[in-house]
Amino acid sequence: MSLIDELLVNNQRYSAGEAGHRPVHPGPQPIRPAKRLAVVACMDAWLDVEDLLGLQTGEAHIIRNAGGVVTEDVIRSLIISHHLLDTREVVLIHHTRCGMLAFTDDLLKAGLEGEQGAAAMLGKATGRRFVACGCASASPAAFHAFRGAPEPLDAPRDARNTERLQWDVRRGLSAILNHPWIPTSGEDAITARGFIYDVDTGRLEEVSYPGPMGGPG
Ligand SMILES: [Zn+2]
Repeated sequence: MSLIDELLVNNQRYSAGEAGHRPVHPGPQPIRPAKRLAVVACMDAWLDVEDLLGLQTGEAHIIRNAGGVVTEDVIRSLIISHHLLDTREVVLIHHTRCGMLAFTDDLLKAGLEGEQGAAAMLGKATGRRFVACGCASASPAAFHAFRGAPEPLDAPRDARNTERLQWDVRRGLSAILNHPWIPTSGEDAITARGFIYDVDTGRLEEVSYPGPMGGPG
């Protein structure tokens, strides 16, 4: 059984209420991840990456940010993870009800800069009073909100938001697999697979790749 298929079995057990991850200090371990695995996932509080994959301390690099978006910094970490620390499989995880579905880059930027309509919309979408900063900033250059029309925060899963998540998983896989410093053939090749984690069921579902790269504009 391949490593990732093994992780999917662990995930089925997790979703059925079984604990896989041992939450204790493991003692001395090598610096290289024992499963030769790197996981890229959203920072969301619903995701316990080690738990939902049944990983033990020392087995994988876990790279997290808002959305599990494959940004330049994620690519940086993956290059170090692979070339210096010997990982060779990448798992990319997005999830249902993700906050990155609830805004657009332009909207958040306008709200922060002090545009009142944008601030009001963000307040309505998040249920939190949005307080503008009232000034511009060159960084971050992008927030990487998921492409498509924003929906209220924590909206239940449907076909439309699933497609938006799938689109960004494929975009991320494409960014990884087409990077000139991430080999995908020959003796040093890595593989990458993408998933959507359903926060209501605890289950991972694979996103086909290649697949549609379009999605709602
Ligand atoms: Zn998220």
